[in-house]
Amino acid sequence: MSTHTAFHGTDFYALDSLLGEDEIQVRGAIREWVSRRVMPVIAAHHRAGTYPMELVPEMAALGVFGANLSGYGCAGLGPVAYGLIMQELERADSGVRSFASVQGSLVMYPIHTWGSEEQKERWLPRMARGEAIGCYGLTEPDAGSDPGSLRTVAVKDGDEFRLSGAKMWITNGTIADVAVVWAKVVEGGTPGRAVAGGDAAAIGSGAIRGFLVERGTPGFSAPEIHGKFSLRASVTSELLFDDCRVPASAMLPAAKGLGPPLSCLNQARYGIAWGALGAAMACYEEALQYSKERVQFGKPIASFQLVQQKLVHMVTEITKAQLLALQLGRLKERGEASAPRVSLAKRNNVHMALEAARTTRDILGAAGVVDAFQAGRHMTNLESVYTYEGTHDIHTLIVGAAITGIVAYR
Ligand code: FAD
Repeated sequence: MSTHTAFHGTDFYALDSLLGEDEIQVRGAIREWVSRRVMPVIAAHHRAGTYPMELVPEMAALGVFGANLSGYGCAGLGPVAYGLIMQELERADSGVRSFASVQGSLVMYPIHTWGSEEQKERWLPRMARGEAIGCYGLTEPDAGSDPGSLRTVAVKDGDEFRLSGAKMWITNGTIADVAVVWAKVVEGGTPGRAVAGGDAAAIGSGAIRGFLVERGTPGFSAPEIHGKFSLRASVTSELLFDDCRVPASAMLPAAKGLGPPLSCLNQARYGIAWGALGAAMACYEEALQYSKERVQFGKPIASFQLVQQKLVHMVTEITKAQLLALQLGRLKERGEASAPRVSLAKRNNVHMALEAARTTRDILGAAGVVDAFQAGRHMTNLESVYTYEGTHDIHTLIVGAAITGIVAYR
């Protein structure tokens, strides 16, 4: 069985009837492209640990980058069409969806929302065309779920800032032309001391601000992290700042405090809630087809009640998750996709997809452990998706705080 047979999606509840014609059209274009261009090459890239860079201009031509932003060459699509794009990309691989999420939600979105006109003109059209790649540096070696404790500092020095510190687990870091870097501004003081932890008060007192740091800036390097068993078709890097000087104009003028970086994550998490559906559908369709073809005890394994129970559980959970994503999209159209609502969908849908991938791997038996089939790749990819953009447990506590009024994560 080929991993790139035609894909028609999973729609047990006729949810297509709730989509607009334009939304179905966008989904169809991306679906066809993914089948034709991504599926034939993705397993080889995953094996090699490389991103299919040759597909970037085609993704741009399809309007994937910053698809829900307006102006500056962006497609200006609605939230549901945007979500469907993420779904179709992640049907192929979470790494392909991650590439688009970082470019659009984590780099173009903050520039679009808090950037100066000059920053917008310089980066957004090129990023929409895929001619410039972006990355987003928030996480640090000692600041993951608690980004407010980040230690990278930007020391004001005349017309410049001097950045010192380190970012960790940054998607596309090594290949990015521009990094959105979140750092605490320190007025005076020495960044070396602050980063080493010797001046906690100075770090704590600084407001978090965003900086656009261009590739090749002296003092900035982005070594790739190797040895991943997850998201192998995606570049993951460290970002290192050693007294890296950037002009004052590199700061995003309107982004002040922790709210803006968290707001970027909210945009990306929305896309992940949809993307996870794609991975889950790919696995379910693979399990369904395989179980109808694989014969044991003289019958297709799909004739056994236990196998049917697993398939029914998968299609039920996919259907529930589709309804969640769609209603979240409609809420987003009305400006009502609050952070806890987005957390609920990211938490549920990624968990659901990971479970679907594991169940598919099980139904495939030994065949599920080789990359001729998709389940193992999706399963290991989804371990990262479960952790990044807020871990599963952190989203539990965000929803918990919203319904009880009691914050339990600090
Ligand atoms: P920790 O925060 O150390 O968490 C470890 C465990 O402790 C988790 O189970 C967590 O749920 C639990 N935990 C922590 N705090 C609490 C609490 N208060 N209550 C209960 N449990 C808690 N970051 C970026 O900035 N940009 C990127 O582009 C990016 N890309 C990534 C790509 C990949 C492949 C991966 C794996 C990560 C990426 N990240 C990126 C980082 C990601 O966002 C972090 O890994 C994530 O925020 C979790 O942080 P951590 O790994 O330090 O785990």
